[in-house]
Amino acid sequence: ATPAATMVGTTIGAGHGVLFKGGDVLERAKDVDTVVFDKTGTLTEGEMELTDVVAFDRDGEPLPDGGAAQRWEGDDDLPSPGSDPDTDRNPEDEVLRLAATAERGSEHPLARAIVEGAESHRIDVGSPDEFENVPGQGVRATVASDGSGEATEVLVGNRKLLRDNGIDPSPAAETMERLESEGKTAMLVARVSADTNEGRLLGVVADADTVKPSAADAVSALRDRGIDVMMITGDNERTARAVAEQVGIDPENVRAEVLPEDKSDAIEAIQADGRQAMMVGDGVNDAPALAVAYVGTAIGSGTDVAIEAADVTLMRDDPLDVAKAIRISDATLQKIK
Ligand code: ADP
Ligand code: MG
Repeated sequence: ATPAATMVGTTIGAGHGVLFKGGDVLERAKDVDTVVFDKTGTLTEGEMELTDVVAFDRDGEPLPDGGAAQRWEGDDDLPSPGSDPDTDRNPEDEVLRLAATAERGSEHPLARAIVEGAESHRIDVGSPDEFENVPGQGVRATVASDGSGEATEVLVGNRKLLRDNGIDPSPAAETMERLESEGKTAMLVARVSADTNEGRLLGVVADADTVKPSAADAVSALRDRGIDVMMITGDNERTARAVAEQVGIDPENVRAEVLPEDKSDAIEAIQADGRQAMMVGDGVNDAPALAVAYVGTAIGSGTDVAIEAADVTLMRDDPLDVAKAIRISDATLQKIK
């Protein structure tokens, strides 16, 4: 394209909040044949909310109350069916207190929702004594057990986090699967005894995120242009598929449980057969994938790292602007040819 065409295209883009980083990007965008969306914060709002808390008894069975969320909706003064007569502490509240205290050390949206959910239900959230973030898996923290001052190690995260720490997540399978098929991110809560080093599954907490209102329209606008639409996420397969279904992405186009450091490899694999992929993402995790994609597109409200790595930035955070970026590229270059 001529410098004049580039100027026109970038100016039109800017008017729509679509910022192209230079003329070559503007030129490439029209040739994109595959769009890969990150899930959290890109197709969804990325504003998680705590929705469920399930406590397990010693045999790993969910306690009769099932989910404290139901109880919270009602009268807070009602006695909980799951409360433990020995400690007078409600088991769901204790699961949530331990999870929230452990997560207080994390900046992850999943973690913030757990802490806020606990606080809004008047649970006394402490600070962890020690804290370790396990990227793509969860957190590991040392938390004061209760009034006694005894410390215990608490794990909050996915199945892999528990397995890697020698705890079998399978007693929670049914609960996890139920929550995940609702599109929620379910996280296991476990404790490891400091004395015996023995792990025990305590419960499950779940966060839900809402799909952006225009996400489904964005997917169909791209498909109408003959573009293949895919989704990539660190979240588990079941949750990912439930969200994909809501926005109209085919299940076989979902790449789930992709570790942060593997996202760029996943894009390279998609491009290996000659595809020209646009990766759309918002997170620090997405930056390497944005960099290797034929076109990297960042959500304007996303992290600076993502914006720096990307070729295009969408200032309005609207997934529909992905199709707009491609249309602008197409239109400007055709007219001027
Ligand atoms: P995404 O790609 O959706 O942003 P991440 O790669 O950050 O996801 O995390 C992948 C998975 O690891 C999450 O779905 C969750 O199960 C688990 N996880 C990550 N961080 C945390 C955390 N702070 N607390 C609990 N679980 C976590
Ligand atoms: Mg994201």
